[in-house]
Amino acid sequence: MENVRRPLLGMTLHELQAVTAELGMPKFAAKQIAAWIYDKKVRSIDEMTNLSLKHRLMLNERYEVGASAPVEAMRSVDGTVKYLYRTSEGNYVEAVYIPEAERATLCVSSQVGCKMNCQFCMTGKQGFTANLTPAQILNQIYSLPERDMLTNVVFMGMGEPMDNLDNVLRALEVLTADYGYAWSPKRITVSTVGLRKGLRRFIEESDCHLAISMHSPLPEQRESLMPAEKAYSITEMIDLLHDYDFSKQRRLSFEYIMFKGVNDTPLYAKEVAHLLRGIDCRINLIRFHAIPGVDLEGSSMDRMIAFRDYLTQHGFYTTIRASRGEDIFAACGMLSTARQQHIDISKKQQG
Ligand code: SF4
Repeated sequence: MENVRRPLLGMTLHELQAVTAELGMPKFAAKQIAAWIYDKKVRSIDEMTNLSLKHRLMLNERYEVGASAPVEAMRSVDGTVKYLYRTSEGNYVEAVYIPEAERATLCVSSQVGCKMNCQFCMTGKQGFTANLTPAQILNQIYSLPERDMLTNVVFMGMGEPMDNLDNVLRALEVLTADYGYAWSPKRITVSTVGLRKGLRRFIEESDCHLAISMHSPLPEQRESLMPAEKAYSITEMIDLLHDYDFSKQRRLSFEYIMFKGVNDTPLYAKEVAHLLRGIDCRINLIRFHAIPGVDLEGSSMDRMIAFRDYLTQHGFYTTIRASRGEDIFAACGMLSTARQQHIDISKKQQG
């Protein structure tokens, strides 16, 4: 049987200490390994030159760094780049690099596909294949050609982060811990439709920013757009959020995709303001990008501006999010690796 080596990338210090203990290495070697991976970003164990040759050989037998470069890149006219990564199991995920004047954001995936089946989302249409491991989540950053330029990471790519919360929290620990990337949690935003099991745990175990996909203030309409509403309603979620203070340290935002003639009238703006009253948050309005087979259209800019102005006048910091990478299917709701997954399955069947 093939000897499968485990990736060191994605391991917390605690896990690296278990590795060094298993191999009879000194305890401080765990910190050395973490520094080689997360600070110096080496691609092989052989480069960890402050470990003895014996220990490097022992490590190499059972472990590898576990980084793998993207297999494809698509560039938008606006500078956005969509990267395709292949996991060791042969699955595909996408990450989107978005350079702006003063920041550079990477939108990362947490799952291959998604179970949530939001009506407006290509990933939802793809269905669910697998959770990404911490190594596979972090590899999107580790192996990004522009990684040294990154200022922010958002978990808004493929998948629902709270449906893979153990692995997402481990990746966040590595990103924010002193032994890891040592990023401020303020540079990281995790987006969710809101899952009953995960939301409170995330708020209590992470200091990263939180973005909640609202898309409609009305439970019945939200359920028709986002089936997850049925299991955990937006009103229950708001009740929970009232238990926490979002005025300091971390930011809470609500994402609101605007669909023409569906959720974009002043009546909806009023309902949103009513629902969020008393919560310290910001609201991001997002233009809908048409996707194949979905009978929804994006709102006009005039509608979006009127919506924003209403919310602003009612005390909510509200922005209209610039659309990026639409020409390469990299914009919000447009990520899908269904084609690559299908091609690989067909090849396996033919082989
Ligand atoms: S919008 Fe997010 S949660 Fe909904 S189907 Fe797409 S990836 Fe999943």
